[in-house]
Amino acid sequence: MHVCVLGGGVVGVTTAYLLACDGHSVTVIEQHSEAGAETSYANGGQLSYSYVAPLAGPSVISHLPGWLLSKQAPLRFKPSLDPAQWAWCIEFLRNCTASRSQQTTVELLRLGAYSKAVMQNLMREESLDFAFSRSGKLVVYRDRQAFAGAKRLMDFQAQFGTQQIALDAAACVDTEPALHAVRSSLVGGIFTASEETGDCYQFTQGLARVAAQKFGVQFLYGVELKGLRREGEQIVAATTSRGDVVADAYVVALGNSSPSLLKPLGIRLPMYPLKGYSLTVPTGKQHATPHISVTDLHHKIVYAKLGDCVRIAGMVDMTPAGSREDAARIRLLQSQAQATMPEAGDYSATQIWTGARPTTPDSKPILGSTGFTNLWLNTGQGSLGFTLAPASAQLVVDAISGRKPALDLEPYALKDRNVGRRYPLDAAN
Ligand SMILES: Cc1cc2nc3c(=O)[nH]c(=O)nc-3n(C[C@H](O)[C@H](O)[C@H](O)COP(=O)(O)OP(=O)(O)OC[C@H]3O[C@@H](n4cnc5c(N)ncnc54)[C@H](O)[C@@H]3O)c2cc1C
Repeated sequence: MHVCVLGGGVVGVTTAYLLACDGHSVTVIEQHSEAGAETSYANGGQLSYSYVAPLAGPSVISHLPGWLLSKQAPLRFKPSLDPAQWAWCIEFLRNCTASRSQQTTVELLRLGAYSKAVMQNLMREESLDFAFSRSGKLVVYRDRQAFAGAKRLMDFQAQFGTQQIALDAAACVDTEPALHAVRSSLVGGIFTASEETGDCYQFTQGLARVAAQKFGVQFLYGVELKGLRREGEQIVAATTSRGDVVADAYVVALGNSSPSLLKPLGIRLPMYPLKGYSLTVPTGKQHATPHISVTDLHHKIVYAKLGDCVRIAGMVDMTPAGSREDAARIRLLQSQAQATMPEAGDYSATQIWTGARPTTPDSKPILGSTGFTNLWLNTGQGSLGFTLAPASAQLVVDAISGRKPALDLEPYALKDRNVGRRYPLDAAN
């Protein structure tokens, strides 16, 4: 079968690679001149298989005033007149009950565990150089209530096979000496030895190279997808800046552009871009670089050593793209990072990046069929796109190839979401 993958980020490239492994002929359409140049470019580098709890949870309501009013809050929400923003927020609030949040956590844990297995398989098959490390992850807490909640979540997750231990503040600094400057403000942490890190951009680039060289996947770089042409219940062509691309099946892996490109077909994807920022700080022998991955939950900042630099990422902002506040948010991220790990690297040579997570209200990706017989979805991985790309891609590839996927696709399907309309054809006809 000839499959056209729309989008060459980590999700699209992983899908293209696994489709090609399965014997399909594959074309990837990507508007940039290379793979992984958008949201997959300089993310936090966490392969966070066990830290998957959704953003929507019971504690959201008490935090809302801070998100609206405080410029220092790790999450910022600036109301706009955009109806898509309001629709997303209403769905998000519906997902904040304890039972929904717990159910989603379980569904994402399953996806995370499967992703780790697919990634291990992929790494056995291909030698990819992407600063991969089985680093383990330490999440540190600065407030007792949040730490108590984390310990409850740890106990809950243990029944699903997650192995984690709780540490007191001294043990946190023993485990990661780069935290010594904030020793007195820590109350404890949760350590997960099985977590991993890597550079998402390098991974995407490496896998794209393997897909092209070993399997003949065709990458159409610098080509903009304009839309999808339909006849009845079938997609017959992808219309692009360089003419039509005709395939037997099409996979949407367009990240934040997925909703707008599917809207003309009557498909409403419940996704919204949630902005974040990262700092890439070079390190040398004289620096006290963290050797494991660290999350400072109070500030919602992650630290990962990726080769000869430290990647520091954080903030979740629902503010307009390129807004005036971005510079202030980056300054805040820089100052909090420097206060937490002052000797982690050469902060004067920091590279700054802004990206936006393609996020659903329940934090689950949208995978599988659309109601069009040959149009498939693999999008909406939100803050876990690097982590979940292998599982998401394998599940969608299995469905396209007519095999039973290893996990039930129902929890991640579009039709299961509270989006009002179950299938696209009612609007498109
Ligand atoms: C600050 C920050 C930190 C993060 N940290 C982590 C982390 O530590 N771990 C983790 O797992 N995830 C993390 N994420 C999330 C992760 O980066 C994303 O979920 C992931 O990159 C999404 O991949 P994607 O392939 O869906 O989207 P993208 O990488 O954006 O790929 C979509 C591609 O589609 C292309 N495209 C769009 N429209 C068109 C068009 N019309 N024509 C042609 N091409 C088009 C784009 O150019 C793009 O290359 C983070 C995100 C941010 C912002």
